[in-house]
Amino acid sequence: MKLVFSTNNKNKLKEVQEMLPNSISLVSLKDINCEEEIDETETTLQGNAALKANFITDNYQLNCFADDTGLEVTCLNGKPGVYSARFAGEPSNAEKNMEKLLYEMNGFTDRSAQFRTVVCLNLEGNQYYFEGICKGSILTERQGTAGFGYDPIFQPEGYQQSFAEMTSEEKNKISHRGLAIEKLVSFLTNYVS
Ligand code: IMP
Repeated sequence: MKLVFSTNNKNKLKEVQEMLPNSISLVSLKDINCEEEIDETETTLQGNAALKANFITDNYQLNCFADDTGLEVTCLNGKPGVYSARFAGEPSNAEKNMEKLLYEMNGFTDRSAQFRTVVCLNLEGNQYYFEGICKGSILTERQGTAGFGYDPIFQPEGYQQSFAEMTSEEKNKISHRGLAIEKLVSFLTNYVS
């Protein structure tokens, strides 16, 4: 089955590709010659995921899924949440985002946080949602160099390493996106069988 992943983020594409069975052929926006930038203008993860999936289904008539992720920090009442990519302003800059987050968390003892991913799947006229949550805490300084985004300062619950100190295989098994994609894959596997 051919399925578009509505993204141009190579890190995410690689992570998801590693989890999909061979029977599902994943194609990127580039593969379908979609050059347009799809602005994430909604105020919820679900809204943005739907926006990105609907753009492709409406304009290209293809089955498609899209994801949106936010880092929700307890002491900041869920911030940066849906604005995680642009937390320190445009253009998106991971270093500045981490700096701002560490600064805003100064003085708080509760460092708990979670990554939450919502996937929206448009499949043969129907729409489905899948959610993945990874609970953890925000470190006081960066650890590790792998991954992207907030990985160097996010330590998943039950681990002594940050996401940036894990291989992509280790991270995929426990990550928010990994869990949401697992639900998507399991749904698709049942759907095609
Ligand atoms: P997106 O919706 O997947 O583009 O994620 C929005 C923002 O959340 C990204 O720009 C990153 O800053 C952050 N983010 C998403 N997933 C991860 C992750 O797995 N590790 C670290 N940061 C992430």
